[in-house]
Amino acid sequence: MDTGKCPRDANKMLFTLESEKLSNGVARVSLVLKCPVCNYRVVVERLEASRDKDGNILIRRFFTEPKPA
Ligand SMILES: [Zn+2]
Repeated sequence: MDTGKCPRDANKMLFTLESEKLSNGVARVSLVLKCPVCNYRVVVERLEASRDKDGNILIRRFFTEPKPA
């Protein structure tokens, strides 16, 4: 997977972490590749952490496959 350059303008893309709290108590963290010039973004990986009824932390892991431009 080539993650180095923006497919739109060939600028160097940067890794950023974005976290958000969902309304059902799930914390979602996304690893995003972002172009600082045109704001093109690709979600590389996504984690969701939640607690079950016994208080155990459950982590689900999602991968996304960027499509070629
Ligand atoms: Zn760009």
